[in-house]
Amino acid sequence: MTWSSGAGKWYLIATCEIPEPKVYEPVDFIGVDRGIANLATTSDAVNYQGRGLLRYRSWSARKRAELQRRNTRSANRRLARRAEKEHRHATHVNHRISKEIVAVAQRTARGIAVEQLDEIRERVRLRGDQRATLSSWPFHQLGAHLAYKARQAGVPYIEVDPSYTSQRCPHCGHTERANRPTRDHFRCRRCGLAGLSDVVAGVNVRNRARSAWAFVTMPVLSAA
Ligand SMILES: [Zn+2]
Repeated sequence: MTWSSGAGKWYLIATCEIPEPKVYEPVDFIGVDRGIANLATTSDAVNYQGRGLLRYRSWSARKRAELQRRNTRSANRRLARRAEKEHRHATHVNHRISKEIVAVAQRTARGIAVEQLDEIRERVRLRGDQRATLSSWPFHQLGAHLAYKARQAGVPYIEVDPSYTSQRCPHCGHTERANRPTRDHFRCRRCGLAGLSDVVAGVNVRNRARSAWAFVTMPVLSAA
């Protein structure tokens, strides 16, 4: 506890450190696939939609354009307030989703796995008008919220290689672009396994986490 003076006033700054709980040994993982329409889809086939958020953002973008055209002082002030409001809204949605996923993980003694983000841009094929949405989309924020909340709850959190998670068959391993004939559907060309593509991606993320975790926690073997 320290006292600090600023602008002639004295403030009491109390820092309170809450010890983080020990990370437990998970019985399994929840794989989380992040997307645009479905903000997050888990390997449990639960999806958290971003449609409301999408609608809100395009409405906001129209309002913004209107204010930008006016370009007056008051319009600029309102513009800044609108940007702030949008940001708060997105943060609120990400907060809610990550809280729910971490709660489920904790309750079922599982860890959380997400795709490592850097390659997500290459992986997701987008129409031209969606590209701007993705670059501003709070994928990173959702990951950061998940990581932070997981740490506070002692839930294992792991990021895995994101390559081909939407084209790989989790049953037989066959990987081909044609396994995903449409944006929403997956059908393995070799073994016929079919399902929603976001769920399949979530399952692939989970499977990768299983082997990654086994590797991380493997006892060190000494060479003979
Ligand atoms: Zn297959």
